[in-house]
Amino acid sequence: MRVLHVASECFPLIKTGGLADVIGALPKALAAAGCDARVFLPNYPAVAAVLKDPQKVRSVKSLFGGSADILKARTADGLVLYVLDAPHLFDRPGNPYLGADGKDWPDNPVRFAACSQMAAGLALDPVGSWQPDIVHAHDWQAGLVPAYVHAADRPGPKTVMTIHNIAFQGVMPAKDRAALGLPDTMFTAAGLEYFGQVSFLKAGLVYADRLTTVSPTYAQETRTAEFGMGLHGVLAERAGDYRGILNGVDETVWDPETDPLIAAPYSRARPRNKARNKETLQGAFGLAQDKSAPLFCVVSRLTEQKGLDLLLDVLPMIGDRGGQLALLGSGDARLEKGFRAAAAARPDRFGVRIGYDEPLSHLMQAGADVILVPSRFEPCGLTQLYGLRYGTIPLVARTGGLADTIIDANDAGLAVGTATGIQFAPVTAEALAFALERVLALYGEPKVWRKLQNRAMAHPVSWAKSAAAYVALYRELAGGA
Ligand code: ADP
Repeated sequence: MRVLHVASECFPLIKTGGLADVIGALPKALAAAGCDARVFLPNYPAVAAVLKDPQKVRSVKSLFGGSADILKARTADGLVLYVLDAPHLFDRPGNPYLGADGKDWPDNPVRFAACSQMAAGLALDPVGSWQPDIVHAHDWQAGLVPAYVHAADRPGPKTVMTIHNIAFQGVMPAKDRAALGLPDTMFTAAGLEYFGQVSFLKAGLVYADRLTTVSPTYAQETRTAEFGMGLHGVLAERAGDYRGILNGVDETVWDPETDPLIAAPYSRARPRNKARNKETLQGAFGLAQDKSAPLFCVVSRLTEQKGLDLLLDVLPMIGDRGGQLALLGSGDARLEKGFRAAAAARPDRFGVRIGYDEPLSHLMQAGADVILVPSRFEPCGLTQLYGLRYGTIPLVARTGGLADTIIDANDAGLAVGTATGIQFAPVTAEALAFALERVLALYGEPKVWRKLQNRAMAHPVSWAKSAAAYVALYRELAGGA
């Protein structure tokens, strides 16, 4: 089975969030399950800087205003990459989507249309003998891939579209659509058209052979008006072709026993060193070096989605109850300001790092007692999975993938020894405060806490099961290839 993944991020080459972690890990897990999975990615400067011996495999004179090449290369861990080298579109430093002013590049639709068109072309007319059975498009940036494959109207690969976050839909003014090179007959309500504009994600949802998202609960939620962000009708119509497959953890990157980015290694069998990580983390954030203080952490984009305004509301309670918070993230100015002010007022209790810091995020998972994920919606969520792996108890909103991955420590869950964290609903400050009471009570009973940590660390979070589910989906589509 040959699979070409098309995406805008891939860890460790370029990352802004969970999508990168998935694209970095899933092809490796698929390879272990017998698939030849490769990745198609734009050649951002961060990618170009680490590519070894890239080979030019295709050139085009004119692609949305400039010439472009497809380069083929192999990463250090053996992943075959095709990168779209189009300097007029992708030779821009820093975040892949935002300019220096923090705003989306105005030509983002064109940039990712170009990427999708070239990826579809590569899948339809391969270079050499490698022809994918499946092209797997991820999020709106790759949403036009199934549309281009459909428009070619000839035998070719089957297509899968995965939603990692339905909030980002890739919308372009209808008047610019001629540049896409797709027939105007596709610009209808049953096609690309979305409230008078073009939606790249909708295109993927309409034209892909199969649709997936990253958890079963989010698959169900996105078919409702509350969570579907305008696309619930399309998804409801395609319910028979749509399923949720959970993300996993790349255990070569996230394992407290081998993680080089933490202060001291530990494991489920030998958890003692977790305390040394806590001490280092408290030091890194300038918090009081107090072994017994319950240390909460957040590693997140600071946006409305993530519900961190609710955390600001209940923060005084954490401080008053002897708790501490270490927060790493960036995003909404109002949230950044709120957390900065909280940290300035009580520096021994609250530490805040505004920015993006991959190594620090590992130390936080290793050193904290609890990871907070109070999201209003969460397609899958990865930080709670890393929390499980590191024995850092997840306290999560009961939504999307958070609902599917954490087993609540209610009396029943504790009695039968299945609990791995705390869930709360509805997503309000009151319910969050109540959940904090519950987690503090558990933390106050060291024996119960140790058992909870032990269960959390034993919970299977690898990619194996989900990779098998993707392989089954590919087989359904492509036969036994
Ligand atoms: P999303 O993709 O919605 O941002 P996920 O939980 O699926 O949320 O994935 C977020 C990923 O990005 C995780 O790997 C997390 O550790 C990482 N991350 C988020 N914010 C930061 C940050 N400020 N610094 C370092 N890593 C971060």
